[in-house]
Formats: sequence, structure tokens, C-alpha cells
Amino acid sequence: MIIKYTNFSDGIHGFQLSEPVKNFGLEELFFGNVILNCKLDKSPHQIVLDCELVLESDMVCDRCTKEFVADLTSYFQITYLFSRELQESDDFNVKYLTPEQDKINLNNDVYEYAELSIPLKKLCTEDCKGLCPHCGINLNEEQCNCKNEIVPDVWEPLKKLKDKFNN
Ligand SMILES: [Zn+2]
Ligand SMILES: [Zn+2]
Repeated sequence: MIIKYTNFSDGIHGFQLSEPVKNFGLEELFFGNVILNCKLDKSPHQIVLDCELVLESDMVCDRCTKEFVADLTSYFQITYLFSRELQESDDFNVKYLTPEQDKINLNNDVYEYAELSIPLKKLCTEDCKGLCPHCGINLNEEQCNCKNEIVPDVWEPLKKLKDKFNN
């Protein structure tokens, strides 16, 4: 995804970019097109680019194992500072543009933010009831006659330990 920013006058511009996921090497995680809704704010010394990244992914629910399609939306902002010399920035969201560079290439940024948009916990719906631990039926679709005992969570002590480390 390339933006030829020299075509834009100073001020705020809104536009949408769209390209097949395979152009980014993202076809194993997503399908269809990468959609990028951009707000480009150009001024004499810099460009601030706000992007809404929209992707579609085939997922398997962690609770009920059903396949579902997830619409994933994430946001990022990058500031491009005009600079005479090529400079490296330590900040992931700040980059430099020299007078020789008349284009912004977003391919790497799209790739990285796309990967980050995959949730750690994949759920078909927020309140997915999951599978019955006894008979295995999908409790979103049917009810079973199993006794609903509370099964102790074997991971509970580990989770507590993890919480401790995170605090
Ligand atoms: Zn589910
Ligand atoms: Zn059951």
C-alpha cells in the first residue's frame, strides 16, 4: 500500500485503500482484502496518518470449536517528519521522509498491525456457552441432560501465579 503524499495539499484528507491480503503475505491468517481507512493530515513539516485497518479472518472458537468469520478492526497512527537527511527513529510510530522520498510505503506497517489484530482468545460470540464437558454437545445449539457439576479448573493456580507476576 503506497501513498504518494506529494499529490496531497496541506490539510486533512480522507480516503480508503484496498488490496488483496496475499499482496502482504497475510493469506494464511486472513481472506479477502485489506481495507485501510486513512486520514492524512499534511502540514509544512510533517504528515500525521491515522489508519483504521479492517480485515476478515476465518477462526475456530476456543470454547465451542465452531468455525466463524471475524471482522477485525484496529487503529494505528504514524507521524512522518520531513527531514533533509535520512534518519532512523526509535519510535515505531514516528518516521522520517527525505525530499527524495515522494511516497509512503505502508506494507510493513499493515503486516505488523494485521498480526497484532488477531485476538488471543478467539470466541464466536462474547457469551459462547461452549461444549458440554461430559457429552460434548454444543451448548449454544442444544441442551443436554448431563448434571452440570462444576469442574475444577486445573489451570486456576497457574493463572493466579501469572496474575501475581503481572502486577
Ligand atoms: Zn463458540
Ligand atoms: Zn452434556
